[in-house]
Amino acid sequence: MIATRMPVRVAIAAFPLVTTGWPEGERPANGVRTGRTPLPSVRRDRQRGRMAPPGHHCDHPASGGDVPTDTLRLGADLTVTTLCDAAGSFPEPLEDAFPDAGNTGRWPMHVHCHLVRTPTRTVLVDAGVGPEWAPAGEWFGRPGRLPEELAALGVDPSEITDVILTHLHPDHIGWVVADEDAPKPYFANARHVVQNAELKWLRDSGEEYEELYESHIKPLMDAQLLVEVTGAATLDERLDLVLAPGHTPGHQCLLVDAPDRPLLITGDAFVHRGQMTSAGLAYRYEEGTEDAAKTRRRLLSVAAERGVLLAPCHLDEGVVLVESASEDSFRTTAMARCPNTVA
Ligand SMILES: [Zn+2]
Ligand SMILES: [Zn+2]
Ligand SMILES: [Zn+2]
Repeated sequence: MIATRMPVRVAIAAFPLVTTGWPEGERPANGVRTGRTPLPSVRRDRQRGRMAPPGHHCDHPASGGDVPTDTLRLGADLTVTTLCDAAGSFPEPLEDAFPDAGNTGRWPMHVHCHLVRTPTRTVLVDAGVGPEWAPAGEWFGRPGRLPEELAALGVDPSEITDVILTHLHPDHIGWVVADEDAPKPYFANARHVVQNAELKWLRDSGEEYEELYESHIKPLMDAQLLVEVTGAATLDERLDLVLAPGHTPGHQCLLVDAPDRPLLITGDAFVHRGQMTSAGLAYRYEEGTEDAAKTRRRLLSVAAERGVLLAPCHLDEGVVLVESASEDSFRTTAMARCPNTVA
């Protein structure tokens, strides 16, 4: 008997999937242009980019016996590249950030962005800690190097068609603007896609994120480059946004729905590898502890069941394969590691 299986994009959706696509029309009240942003065609130069042969590939020397990778090819014309914006020690000890982890001391944190290339789109998922003047650059004690990472791939910021913001914490939107004195969009031709609930949360956060809103979100609105979506949305036939709330109220993931090997870019659904093996492990700065745990359980279960690779943001494991161990615990295998090590 052949069982009919629901598509991964449906299995992984937080709510019954309503594919909204892009909202139509103008909403001048808040300066957000909705609807499809007309975009210039994307120049693609496969020779200059480090496009990998099938399977894992990396230009860096292997270290520690692991398989480092930066570009993963998923199918004939779909690649996902991990870009390491920054790597260092998390500013707070583990026992403060994860009170129930049972471990103490400093812990390494990477800040990864992902570049997804399809025949028609060049999509950046998250925008790192930013330059040294950006709030997260200061907090993390080092500026990001996303521009260099993109340059190494031969990708000019103007070629990015979409910037997917998994959420609006400062370490995920650092590079969306350039120029401290008069911030303006750095990815000048990209629509920047955020969940409506996330934007509302940031606005309602008052003083805490007021400056960040002014410096990093308002310039995108003024340039009519910010697109708000509600719930699941489809970017193109292989790219889907999936709501994954908890870390923040409007947190979202990007599903790269490759036919043989789907991959989910998980933003901050998992901040530490302990949250991948134990879905209930709470991170102190989650906005909704229960929702966050629920989201992790759901993502891990679907990943284990359907063989969806997970690409978290802050781990040195760039790409992870998940197996279910019991209801709340999972085994993970690193399929790729970031070549940058944290001293
Ligand atoms: Zn890294
Ligand atoms: Zn976050
Ligand atoms: Zn983060």
